Amino acid sequence: LANRAFHPEDSVINVSGIPVGGKALTLIAGPCSVESKEQVLEVARRVKASGANLLRGGAFKPRTSPYSFQGMGSTALDLLVEAKEETGLPIVTELMSEKHIDEFNDKVDLVQIGARNMQNFDLLKEVGQRIKKPVLLKRGLSNTYEEWLMSAEYIMANGNPNVILCERGIRTFETYTRNTLDLQAIPVLKRLTHLPVIIDPSHAGGKWWLVEPMAKAAVVAGCDGLMIEVHNDPENALCDGPQSLKPDRYDNLLKDIRKLEAVR
Ligand code: PEP
Ligand code: MN
Repeated sequence: LANRAFHPEDSVINVSGIPVGGKALTLIAGPCSVESKEQVLEVARRVKASGANLLRGGAFKPRTSPYSFQGMGSTALDLLVEAKEETGLPIVTELMSEKHIDEFNDKVDLVQIGARNMQNFDLLKEVGQRIKKPVLLKRGLSNTYEEWLMSAEYIMANGNPNVILCERGIRTFETYTRNTLDLQAIPVLKRLTHLPVIIDPSHAGGKWWLVEPMAKAAVVAGCDGLMIEVHNDPENALCDGPQSLKPDRYDNLLKDIRKLEAVR
């Protein structure tokens, strides 16, 4: 179902009125995690003013350590909905468990499946059968294109055709950066599948100053959109501060991105 051979034209996926795929770049931005009402509203207003189309914010967080901040859960979903009501930006957040599927169908516009759950096949089946919204499927930390596309296939074969792929860096021998951004994923996936491809340079590099050059490179390489972490106070962020852009830097980046859009 994901195979380009049986579906030659690019898919354009409608996320609550925002097209993903096709001509326009989709710009997703927001904090790694929702931390408070003030934080998420402030970041939402700023990224909206810069030209973002979708607001991200983690509610249920897949943290490596059980002692790290785990997210505000359902409270965060309600704060995201408030931010959406104020700014008009549809919201993207990660689903970790089938327990929350009904709540996500009610509140969330684009349902993220994180890297760590890319091969949680039971969850993928449930998402295919029961999630009524489009799905943003992130690439697993050490998964091949074929494995990633088979995970998309699980969702599609179970009844949800609206899958968007997101490259977020893969594990290599390099430890200086958090992960290594695989820009080759863009032309390879464009050849193998009709599904849209989004790039997340924040989790790839793990450093805020890598976000700008990698985002620009991804746009020139033909991605359909960017997902970027933006925080109003990265030094005190509860999650992923070192890779988060301040709103002013995000604003400058989008000005440059607009100039590159023509090159795509
Ligand atoms: C995220 O986008 O907040 C996230 C946890 O990303 P990943 O699953 O790619 O690590
Ligand atoms: Mn994060």
